[in-house]
Amino acid sequence: MSTGPIGITEDQVREALSFRELIPAIEHALIDFSAGRVQQPVRTILPVPEYGGWFGVMPAVCGDVMGAKLVTFYPGNAARGLHTHMALIQLFSASTGEPLATMDGRLITGMRTAAVSAVATRRLAPAKTPVLAILGAGVQAGSHLEALRLVRDFDEICVWSRSQARAEQFARDHHVTARATVPAAVRDADVVVTVTSASEPILRGEWLKPGAYVNAVGAVGPARRELDDAAMQGAIVVESRAAAEREAGDIILAGAPIFAELGELLADPARTCMEPRVVFKSLGLAVEDIAAARMVYESIRGGHNPPSCYNRVEPA
Ligand code: NDP
Repeated sequence: MSTGPIGITEDQVREALSFRELIPAIEHALIDFSAGRVQQPVRTILPVPEYGGWFGVMPAVCGDVMGAKLVTFYPGNAARGLHTHMALIQLFSASTGEPLATMDGRLITGMRTAAVSAVATRRLAPAKTPVLAILGAGVQAGSHLEALRLVRDFDEICVWSRSQARAEQFARDHHVTARATVPAAVRDADVVVTVTSASEPILRGEWLKPGAYVNAVGAVGPARRELDDAAMQGAIVVESRAAAEREAGDIILAGAPIFAELGELLADPARTCMEPRVVFKSLGLAVEDIAAARMVYESIRGGHNPPSCYNRVEPA
């Protein structure tokens, strides 16, 4: 008889999940997604305009687990002292349909998004990337800083945020340099990460140095964008073509063609692109949440690891 699903708190997720294990698991999840080994529709987003938020439902079946993330995004929560993103993940056994666990999904959202960018940066950025610029100073800025440092050595890291006080606080907390403007932050950057809640472009192509690599992570939704048309000139890589065509305002509004899915490029290390600039437009996929949730569940269940593509851990 099943003992029923277990409840897993955010503190337990924090203890169970590490970027060192999550990054390779996310890499394999993306390869499986692009190879058609994952069942996953584009997420359903229900706008809640009267309260300025949205509610997303993100299901996926991957290997011997399946589940769904239920996620909310309320940008106005920042002024209320609440998190702007909150989430729950429900994990099931794919073989029996039994519910396995209900867990907090807020930290998983922060970590899996940064892990995806780390995988993308390792695969797509130039070999030498001494300068990193982060635009935004919230939750994703912090998780990206931690994850990207695991895949690249940076000599200099700059941060910019709409509120300079927040950028300076972030810089003090993380021992990086705050910049007062976006052009000053990105001028020398080899890797640029955009992690703001902006809905209009904050990054212009004319400010980027030739060959800079960009992880465009904020701006989820067809009418939202962080990058202008010029910044979107280059090879555009996405997690999912289907999702990007519905949800990536940066791509839709610029009319930018998609070069490849990240999972396709990870599966084919010899494939290169000739464009001087590569932009990875991240949106977040359910398979990333389920891969992370599975790792948390297995860790808390005491290292019981049934065979699955999501348990493979390999060095970079
Ligand atoms: P936070 O609320 O923690 O931080 C938001 C950051 O964006 C802050 O630096 C804030 O600056 C800045 N900001 C807010 N509004 C604007 C604006 N209008 N113009 C410029 N900057 C602005 O959010 P997160 O770090 O959790 O998320 C950041 C973005 O990433 C969001 O857009 C979110 O939807 C997206 N996201 C994407 C995911 C993916 O998989 N691709 C997953 C999760 C999130 P200030 O201090 O001035 O308010």
